[in-house]
Amino acid sequence: MSTTGAQAPDEFGLIAELFAPLSAGCPGALNLTDDAAFLAAEPGFDTVATMDAMVAGVHFLPDDPPELIARKLVRVNLSDLAAKGAVPRHLMLAAAFPKGTGMDWLRAFAEGLRQDVEEFGVSLIGGDTVATPGPLTLSLTALGRVEAGRGLRRSGAVPGDHVYVSGSIGDGALGLLAVQGRLAGLPPDAVATLAGRYRLPQPRIVLGPALVGLARASMDVSDGLVQDLGHICRVSGVSAVIEAERVPLSDAARAAVAMDQSLLALVLTGGDDYELLFTVPAGAARGIESLARRTGVALTRIGRIEAATQAAGVSVVDADGVVVPLPRGGWRHF
Ligand SMILES: [Mg+2]
Repeated sequence: MSTTGAQAPDEFGLIAELFAPLSAGCPGALNLTDDAAFLAAEPGFDTVATMDAMVAGVHFLPDDPPELIARKLVRVNLSDLAAKGAVPRHLMLAAAFPKGTGMDWLRAFAEGLRQDVEEFGVSLIGGDTVATPGPLTLSLTALGRVEAGRGLRRSGAVPGDHVYVSGSIGDGALGLLAVQGRLAGLPPDAVATLAGRYRLPQPRIVLGPALVGLARASMDVSDGLVQDLGHICRVSGVSAVIEAERVPLSDAARAAVAMDQSLLALVLTGGDDYELLFTVPAGAARGIESLARRTGVALTRIGRIEAATQAAGVSVVDADGVVVPLPRGGWRHF
């Protein structure tokens, strides 16, 4: 983290200068001058709340650009709201900045927040900033809304459902390798594409709400496709089969796997994709096709839900339908 530039002003000055402008879309936030924000309850809607924390050295590199740290923090949270079918509305930020964090760094961080507040039409309605002797630690709470009782859960999958993912899978995990300089054999534009997908994921905020009434179970892919589908299986009391050949890869990911076949395991089990993973009744294929056209987001059927097996988990099969044994917590390549 940069320590150049003027030292930060006191907490109140910091809030007034950097964060209060981000509350403009929500009158009840009172320009961040009060102890709390006031949100009118909206009849007919459920409020959907989620929170994700990020720690320097764990979830991002301490010298990553502050704008991108801020935007990824926003986006991973909006991805969770999208997966529940919710439209994002409000954010609350708890930030523990290392002592000596410079104003330049803080301004860049706030600028990243501003860009995404604008892009996604949300407001920062409160939070807390403190100094810490430890690493930069950020926690964001995101609030959204969905028609009462219609929010999407992990628990609705039933045997016979088809399993879909949005976009492409594996770019996040490959992007981390790209950022670390570990995909040196790949063309520079592919490396840049993957790194961009890791640093600035695209939450599916239009697709998610459009899945309400269509998807039976839904979540976002943050911990890896196989593990996350396992979460749906566990709470739904079912098992699932993924057809490896169907899993959609971007051109850049395809190039990486062509270079090194062992990276296919990372594609299936790595994290940070922030795509939506959902199940629909087998008869919903037409609705899914028209939704993909309407939203401009690729939706790919990658497998099916089956009755719970003893393993109650996810199996991956190859092109011949042969089950590929999955080592605990990971995946063995072909
Ligand atoms: Mg999630």
